[in-house]
Amino acid sequence: MSSSVPVEVLQDILTPTVYGELRIRESLLEGEWLGMTFERADIDRQTLNRVQELLSDSLSHLQIELRSGNTISLGGKGFGPNRHLVAVLGGKGGVGKSTIAVNLALTLSAMGQKVGMLDGHINAPDVHHLLGLPPQASHEDREWELWRSSILPPSRRRSPMRRCDLDIVSIGLEFHEKAVPSISGREMIAALFRHLVFETRWDSEIVIIDVPPGSGDEVQMLLRHLPISGAVLVTTPQDLAQMDAGRTVTLLQQVSVPVVGVVQNMAWLVCPHCDEVIDLYRHSSRLEDLGIPVLARIPFDIALSSGADRGVPLVLNDRTRIVSREFAGLGRHVLDSLTNEERSK
Ligand code: ADP
Repeated sequence: MSSSVPVEVLQDILTPTVYGELRIRESLLEGEWLGMTFERADIDRQTLNRVQELLSDSLSHLQIELRSGNTISLGGKGFGPNRHLVAVLGGKGGVGKSTIAVNLALTLSAMGQKVGMLDGHINAPDVHHLLGLPPQASHEDREWELWRSSILPPSRRRSPMRRCDLDIVSIGLEFHEKAVPSISGREMIAALFRHLVFETRWDSEIVIIDVPPGSGDEVQMLLRHLPISGAVLVTTPQDLAQMDAGRTVTLLQQVSVPVVGVVQNMAWLVCPHCDEVIDLYRHSSRLEDLGIPVLARIPFDIALSSGADRGVPLVLNDRTRIVSREFAGLGRHVLDSLTNEERSK
């Protein structure tokens, strides 16, 4: 059960500090969770994070969540203390972003992390399908409460679906496979992403976001409205794919999301007849020239696509394949970058 804490008690902690003029509007206590909103709806994330730290110092036994308008702070360097959102994105469609995102999530989970997946596709979600999870009929009539200015206590948040030891959140689980979700407009998209991230009871330390192609509203709202700790780019080695990814890099720079590196997917294959290694594209160094490191070179492997069709991702199926070893290397790079992120700032 949640109860309210007298706002004056909390305000007293802020008053002697430079944040004294920020007026607390509402506070809610539930177990070890304390949520607060401010009268001002325009406090930026950095300030909110500092206030969060200040309050946490005085109330160290509590997990504190602050909200000012649409900006939310859970503390820590990412999406809460020792919790991170990692975006997998690339610019061009069909280069294997969803496949890489799902197999990366499973690899990190096999490495002992608590991992979740958020499908960032509103109009063409398929992460649940790649993981063999059917849409949940019972959710079809669910009312969406996207426009709240108060904080939803943990007991009223929805639990993610679980599959293969992953927390999974996807619009694709809410609608019938053939239904076209009518979610459009920047504000609504941003509110939806905030809802999916902040009003879900994640158990995860790392949430991998499968980001749609291009640089349209879904991508921009995702990157601008969520505290993303790092981005993994996915392209083929082809110049055209890397050119599209270059546009994504510009967007990432604009929103100050660090780029972990690039995965070159469908880069090569082993000839089934003579075991010769064949490069599938003429190699472009466009992204490497921007200083972006190559994290993995994933071969074309028919087992990856057939596993996706059956909802059994390859790294679960066969951990001895070259592909699985490439994913293990990718997983280590991602964990290293998150560790560096924790140490920095
Ligand atoms: P995106 O998310 O970029 O649109 P997908 O992950 O849906 O791309 O992949 C596009 C297609 O390529 C899918 O059919 C997928 O199964 C297949 N695919 C992706 N990566 C590989 C790979 N390394 N080897 C074989 N097939 C792959």
